[in-house]
Amino acid sequence: MPNVSDSDIIKALSSVVDPASGRDVVSDGRIQGIHVQDGRVRFALAVRPGEGPEKEPLRQATEKAVAALPGVTGVTAVLTAERGEERQKPAPLDAPQKGDGIGKVKAIVAVASGKGGVGKSTTAVNLALGLKALGLKVGLLDTDIYGPSVPRLMGLSGKPKTDGKVLLPMENYGIKCMSMGFMVDEQTAMIWRGPMVVSAISQMLGDVAWGELDVLVLDLPPGTGDAQLTIAQRVPLTGAVIVSTPQDLALLDARRGLAMFEKVKVPTLGIIENMSTFVCPECGHESHIFGHGGARAEAETLGVDFLGEIPLHMAIRETSDAGTPIMVKDPSGPHAKAYLEIASKIAAKIGAGARRGPTISFS
Ligand code: ADP
Repeated sequence: MPNVSDSDIIKALSSVVDPASGRDVVSDGRIQGIHVQDGRVRFALAVRPGEGPEKEPLRQATEKAVAALPGVTGVTAVLTAERGEERQKPAPLDAPQKGDGIGKVKAIVAVASGKGGVGKSTTAVNLALGLKALGLKVGLLDTDIYGPSVPRLMGLSGKPKTDGKVLLPMENYGIKCMSMGFMVDEQTAMIWRGPMVVSAISQMLGDVAWGELDVLVLDLPPGTGDAQLTIAQRVPLTGAVIVSTPQDLALLDARRGLAMFEKVKVPTLGIIENMSTFVCPECGHESHIFGHGGARAEAETLGVDFLGEIPLHMAIRETSDAGTPIMVKDPSGPHAKAYLEIASKIAAKIGAGARRGPTISFS
């Protein structure tokens, strides 16, 4: 299989003309950050202020042109927004690639939900901490650009630093984190459109010094719309877990989540039932406020593994709000135990159990 070089790629891209300007995408300075690994090519197509989704056909044309080159096994082109005031000069095409991005990330696991408010982010954060407690090197990427909550949940604020080339992830509790919440205020995030979402996420994967990780946990935006589907298609996911509450409605939504991952051939590692039982903080009595066991039964019907239940408990909400997740605040308590059990099932499923970590007893 011939090796494809940057100059082959540039040559192929020089034949792609933007009908709006009549110029080819290379001389127009739109191509950035060409990255080739094992025949897989990745690059960004710059989108200027005032331009937007109308550049999608151009993006597709660039992918097609590069895909036709001998030795190319896959192509991902992403639309990247250039900001007006601080518009950067496109990187020289022969410049070294920016960083390893997710090159040394062994597995990426998406945490999804059929709808908002089921505790997806809370679960993603505590599972990331659970995987860390099992001795794994863990990163957490918040792809929910409409309502990023990882900074708050992980007790992080401020802006990530850069080493001049790539962004350095923020870190707390031993977990490397990146979130759109660090980059833009909510006002800005809300006007973002589909292709922008994808290019932002692609940057958070590719232009961030994730370094060596056993697993990168990806907190998906809630629901199963276009943004989620595109992320599931474009990010090389190892698998997905679906968070659901026991309510029937939520379970119907969870089915949509399953169908979405099936469509893009990402394995669903299993379903988690959140807010499962209510344990009274005063007397310890268990009540089944939303019914109970629905997710387990549903998982069985659908032939998907049931990964476990997390109770509805004040302590989980309070610790989340305070930026000290329950896995940090009370690592040997019953809730942490529930998260750890699920985390160890996930670790086993993605083959990340090999690293020797502290011994965790579930008894
Ligand atoms: P989502 O990401 O699905 O929108 P969040 O993780 O933001 O949901 O959770 C929604 C709210 O529910 C938050 O206030 C969170 O603290 C709370 N919450 C999540 N899981 C639990 C739980 N098991 N027990 C109590 N509160 C929870």
